[in-house]
Amino acid sequence: MDFSLTSAEKDFKDEVETWLNENLTGEFGDLKGKGGTGRNDIAPELLMAWEAKLAEGGWLGINYPTEWGGRNCTLFEQVIFYMTYVEFKAPGRIPNMGLTLAGPTIVDYGTQEQKKRFLPSILNGTEFWCQGYSEPDAGSDLANIRTRAELTGDSWVINGQKIWTSLAQFSDWCFVVCRTDSDSARHSGLSYLLVPMSAEGIEIRPIIQITGGDEFNEVFFNDVRIDKELIVGEPGHGWAVAMATLGYERGASTLGQQLSFRQEFEDFLAEVDISALPPKIRQDLAQAYEQLEIMRFNNMRILSAMADGVPGAEASIAKLYWSEWHKNLGELMMSVLGAEALATDNIAENGEELEKNGLKSTILSKWQETFLYSRAHTIYAGTSEIQRTIIGEKALGLPRESKGK
Ligand SMILES: Cc1cc2nc3c(=O)[nH]c(=O)nc-3n(C[C@H](O)[C@H](O)[C@H](O)COP(=O)(O)OP(=O)(O)OC[C@H]3O[C@@H](n4cnc5c(N)ncnc54)[C@H](O)[C@@H]3O)c2cc1C
Repeated sequence: MDFSLTSAEKDFKDEVETWLNENLTGEFGDLKGKGGTGRNDIAPELLMAWEAKLAEGGWLGINYPTEWGGRNCTLFEQVIFYMTYVEFKAPGRIPNMGLTLAGPTIVDYGTQEQKKRFLPSILNGTEFWCQGYSEPDAGSDLANIRTRAELTGDSWVINGQKIWTSLAQFSDWCFVVCRTDSDSARHSGLSYLLVPMSAEGIEIRPIIQITGGDEFNEVFFNDVRIDKELIVGEPGHGWAVAMATLGYERGASTLGQQLSFRQEFEDFLAEVDISALPPKIRQDLAQAYEQLEIMRFNNMRILSAMADGVPGAEASIAKLYWSEWHKNLGELMMSVLGAEALATDNIAENGEELEKNGLKSTILSKWQETFLYSRAHTIYAGTSEIQRTIIGEKALGLPRESKGK
């Protein structure tokens, strides 16, 4: 894949830059360099308003077909958008799971009515979604789902529990995988339902994370009734739809993410007197920098694979690499800063400034947040162990894992 810009792509980059210069101002300008994975609890409502602002400019869902309000951007245009976005230190995006997960699933598997109902509000940033997959006994082993839904008259009646549901408290809708055939087991008999979070019988209980944030929740369904049309795909065939959703999880934003890691790393190094550090730590920092470059080349490889179709094991290689790298960086930051950096009762340097602007302050410093939150990277969107299994089986052709069942 050739990564140099054509003149049309340069014009596209100019358009992105002009828009960001004109709109990343005022309260949104105050969010520069803030937000992002693990830091969404700083100002969730403002980050959601920023999504709506992006929509106004036509920057939400640039990969979507134009008939549904997208721009039908090429893969490379999408990369340009994400790279330019990060160059501007624009706010780390709140996970917009309508845009990244529910929307593409509805485009590919939804009925015409579902497309008309859901895609406009996803693309104009007015409705937000959460992902109802994990349960207390169904994480890596998702096929163990026990939440059930029964067709009663014109409604599905849902009972059960989901867990780790990110941003459920701010979401209008949830895509929920549940068992609709009570005699079924494992992958069969599951269905993919679209559940309004305002429905009676839904209870959301926040889970406080080690960072102090409450990004994710337990969600309980007690006789929740939804219209029988709110199913994507055929009843009992939800596994294929659920897996397709996971396939959209990460795309053209990978190079932008690598760039934001680089910015974070450089910001950190700028605060540190490297020459005063012990040789071993200096060596570790140099190695982290080299690995960041390897990540960039790996991400180019995954993009090339995407240009040729849906990436397979490349996506797992990329996920394993970036998540482990960022977790190691968090640990390295603590080694550089020393034992005191692990204490969490110090007020963040920017705490006062955040409060002045009406944003929630945090008791953690930026680097403590990186250290603590990066522990989650190797768990969500498929744990490192699961990624290694996929790489072993799909990329290296090793014998399939025994399920022991
Ligand atoms: C920050 C964050 C946000 C999340 N947001 C959401 C969300 O919005 N919606 C949602 O549905 N879920 C969400 N999750 C849940 C996430 O998908 C699960 O945590 C993940 O799938 C792992 O499942 P589990 O926690 O049940 O761990 P388990 O699957 O029980 O795994 C426990 C340990 O055993 C290992 N293990 C399990 N099976 C195997 C195997 N076959 N081979 C080798 N090792 C194995 C795992 O790697 C892990 O180390 C989120 C998680 C986090 C951390």
